[in-house]
Amino acid sequence: MIVAVASGKGGTGKTTVSASLASVWDKGVTAVDLDVEEPNLHLFLKPEISGSAPANLETPVADESLCNLCRACSHFCQYKAITVMGKILMIFPEMCHGCGGCIAGCPQKALSAGSRELGEILWGKSGKIDFLMGRLRVGEAMSPPLMRLVKSRLSEMITVHPTDAIIDCPPGVSCPAINSVMDADVIVLVTEPTPFGFYDFKLAIEAFAPLEKPMGAVINRAGVGENSVYGFCAEKGIPILAEIPYDRAVAEAYSKGLVVAEASERMKTTFLGLAEKIRGLAGGKGAFRA
Ligand code: SF4
Ligand code: SF4
Repeated sequence: MIVAVASGKGGTGKTTVSASLASVWDKGVTAVDLDVEEPNLHLFLKPEISGSAPANLETPVADESLCNLCRACSHFCQYKAITVMGKILMIFPEMCHGCGGCIAGCPQKALSAGSRELGEILWGKSGKIDFLMGRLRVGEAMSPPLMRLVKSRLSEMITVHPTDAIIDCPPGVSCPAINSVMDADVIVLVTEPTPFGFYDFKLAIEAFAPLEKPMGAVINRAGVGENSVYGFCAEKGIPILAEIPYDRAVAEAYSKGLVVAEASERMKTTFLGLAEKIRGLAGGKGAFRA
C-alpha cells in the first residue's frame, strides 16, 4: 500500500504526520520524502544514509553540422526548450523536461542525449524504517523529473524488499503535489482549523478528487482557530481520520525534531488509530471519492 500524506499549504504538519505514521506502522515501511524542494523528513527520522546517486535529466545536445534547421524539434517541444531563430538552433536546457521527443524525431539525427544535474537521491535506514529522499539542486526549478526518479527508485526498493510506503508530499495543489499523489492507494490530507488551512484544504480536495482515490483528513492543532473544516468534511463525506491536539507536549516534541508519536503514549495511540483507519480506507471502508 502507498499512502500519500499531502496538504493544501505548507506548515500544516504533514511531515510530522508522515514521520509519526512511519514510526508506528506495524508492517515493513519505506518513508519517502518527495518534497524534493524542501525535504525535511530526515530531520525527524534521522536515518543513517547508506547510499546516494546523482539525479540527472536527459537534455538534447546538437551537432550543428548535421542540422538543416527543419524545425521539426521546435514544433514538437511543448516547453519551447528548443527552437530555431533565423539560422541558429537554440537549446534551453533549463526549460527541457527530458521527454526525449526531439532527439527521437530529428530526421537528420542531429540531436543526441546530454544531461543536466537535477539534484540527488539518498537512501538508508531509520531503525526498522527504510528511508528514501530526493533533494533538488539549489537553483534548479523543475522538481517533477526528480520526483519521477525518486518514485522509480522506490519502485526498485519495494520490488527487492516489499514494504508499504508513506510519502511525505510537497505542499500545495500544483504539478509537483499532483505528481506526488498519483500512485497512492490512499491520500491523507493534513490541515489545521484556521481560515487559511480551511481555504487550502478545499483547494486540495478539488485538485485531488478527480484522481478518484480514497481520501481522509487529519486535523492538526485541533482546538485552535475556527472549525469550518469539520462541517465541510461532514457535508462532503470526508472522514476525519485523526485529530492532533494543539498542546505543549506536541509543540515541544516538534521543536526538538522528535517524532511526535514517540513523545507520549497518548500520541502513539493517536497515530496507531490513524494507521488503522488508513488501512480501512485502503480496503474501501468509508472512502471519499468525488
Ligand atoms: S529537428 Fe533536427 S535537423 Fe531539424 S531543426 Fe531540429 S535539430 Fe535541426
Ligand atoms: S527533450 Fe523534450 S522537453 Fe526537452 S527539448 Fe526535447 S522535446 Fe523539448
